[in-house]
Amino acid sequence: MDRSSKLAREEPPLPKAPSRPVFQKVAPSRAPKIVPLPLPAAPGPSLFDAADKITDDTLLRIREDLGECTRCKLHKHRHAIVFGDGNPKAELVFVGEGPGADEDAQGLPFVGRAGKLLTQMIEAMGLQRKDVYICNVVKCRPPENRTPEEDEISTCSPFLVRQLEVISPKVIVCLGAVAAKMLLQTNRGISHFRGEWLEYRQSKLMATYHPAYLLRNPNAKGEVWKDLQKVMAVLGLQGKKGKSS
Ligand code: URA
Repeated sequence: MDRSSKLAREEPPLPKAPSRPVFQKVAPSRAPKIVPLPLPAAPGPSLFDAADKITDDTLLRIREDLGECTRCKLHKHRHAIVFGDGNPKAELVFVGEGPGADEDAQGLPFVGRAGKLLTQMIEAMGLQRKDVYICNVVKCRPPENRTPEEDEISTCSPFLVRQLEVISPKVIVCLGAVAAKMLLQTNRGISHFRGEWLEYRQSKLMATYHPAYLLRNPNAKGEVWKDLQKVMAVLGLQGKKGKSS
């Protein structure tokens, strides 16, 4: 199955996970059980976020910690680690799934066909690639461009989490289901929340279709453009006049 049809596939909806549960004890006389409650929105990091946070972290330090990674099986066939690229102070970060053949060859994210479409989308928003940061859930190419597996995602994603913590963008755009499911910690299909504003730690998060999906389903471009226009409104961007990819 190719990547775009996999991305289009929906999995059965799971009950919505509470974003960051806290646990409250119910009075023993009524029911001695632990009840998860959603955290009220509060400024600053939650206890969970604060516990994860590495003081004075930087993209350079994350790259050094990653090293010549052999933590998961994806390292066996990779040519280059694709760490991420762009403005380390970007207000907008795009998160894809994982490198393809072109990215593996060049060590840069989104430089193949899907990448060219992403570049057009960024430029239609009135930005250039150097204004944003682009990265992926996994940093090594999955063989035959298959979807990254659970163990690969869980091994690699802590580095993405640190990158996002350091950049601390105003908006994260998840390109496709893999990025959205990982950051939102959900198994729900992307069609349930695509185009809606969600939250990831200190950032607003928008999930939209992956550019590779758009290459196979050009009719979905309009939906993606609507999602990106919502992002532009939040970032105060005018967009490139008369142009939508
Ligand atoms: N697809 C992705 O998800 N990421 C890339 O870097 C390239 C293609």
